[in-house]
Amino acid sequence: MQHQKLKETFINKFRTNPSLFRSPGRVNLIGEHTDYNNGFVLPAAIDKEIIIAIEKSGSTKCSVHSYDLNESIEFDIHEVSPSSVSWANYFLGVIDQINKKGKSIEGFNCVFGGNVPLGAGLSSSAALECVFVFAFNELWHLGLDKEEMVKIAQMAEHEFAGVKCGIMDQFASMFGQKDHVFRLDCRSLEYEYFPLKLVDYEVILCNTKVAHSLASSEYNTRRQECETGVSILQKHFDHIDSLRDATSQQLKSVKKEMDPVVYKRCLYVINEIARVIDSCEKLQNNDLVGFGKDMYETHDGLSHNYEVSCDELDYLVEKAKDTGYVIGSRMMGGGFGGCTINLVNRSRQDQFINFMSESYLKDKGIELETYIVNIENGTSKL
Ligand code: ADP
Ligand code: MG
Repeated sequence: MQHQKLKETFINKFRTNPSLFRSPGRVNLIGEHTDYNNGFVLPAAIDKEIIIAIEKSGSTKCSVHSYDLNESIEFDIHEVSPSSVSWANYFLGVIDQINKKGKSIEGFNCVFGGNVPLGAGLSSSAALECVFVFAFNELWHLGLDKEEMVKIAQMAEHEFAGVKCGIMDQFASMFGQKDHVFRLDCRSLEYEYFPLKLVDYEVILCNTKVAHSLASSEYNTRRQECETGVSILQKHFDHIDSLRDATSQQLKSVKKEMDPVVYKRCLYVINEIARVIDSCEKLQNNDLVGFGKDMYETHDGLSHNYEVSCDELDYLVEKAKDTGYVIGSRMMGGGFGGCTINLVNRSRQDQFINFMSESYLKDKGIELETYIVNIENGTSKL
């Protein structure tokens, strides 16, 4: 067990018994590029997690050891600033946010590690932030509720890691519930759990292992295109603050005034927000096949209208579709790389992994990485 290794390493280093905490990575079943348009997302926490062994040091000194990278850093709790050690910024940023809330913690010792693949789009960064804020809250009785912790984790990522992420990743890591997805309203932060009864199916991720450099510039361009669309809609309709408030009929009625590219972007977002609602109804009706069709549609929209896919992602989705036993497949995350998420017939699991791996290697020259994921609970003490 992974947490045993971490515990032993902690005891060898610090000669005391630590407390153990965990926080998972996440998947998003449907609802892509909807967060910054005030729409809905449908994430779930997974059985890949970051675990920390931690205890108070009894002074202002802090010592943190990354088990996986075999690196350590030491610092004084009163001197927290962004670090050149990139992995340290996730918890340093959390401490900084706690201070900004007028709360404080004392020195601590820690060993951490995990099995969320790094940089694959499963949010190892959010898992890292969430596990630390949760542990600090417990050890120093800070009295933070889960939503406050999620916001602290998000702001840590903005300010210390320099990534202006939405709130979904941290929310999913903290609020996940075993065998459930949850629909998060990114406008109100209200959420509702839906059982994900996979029965004969399995969630399998395929990692393209590419990260095209377009990702961040195109992300900003998409945000601008959506804003442009909103400003045109606002000229004609009251009460439109974001694409969340617009219908596809309203969009069609202003099509002539819109740049065709802006139109396509808005069409995708409006359809996708509606699709999340629709797909949740399908889950409630145990229509997993229908849910999977929605995933394929999402991919189609992301690829053709929103244009944030890439050759490798399109390839993997097409191949999955060709098998006939993958009921849903789409790119997951911001795009231009990362993973596809697939709903695969359980009896074909090995066949799927072999077929996808062989095809990807043959046609793209890249060794595919695949992860079978189960849906787990959010952040907790072990
Ligand atoms: P993602 O969140 O998609 O996994 P990010 O680039 O946002 O990708 O976060 C990855 C970073 O988080 C890594 O570069 C590293 O700094 C940190 N990290 C994640 N997991 C670990 C780990 N097990 N050990 C050390 N650092 C980690
Ligand atoms: Mg991240």
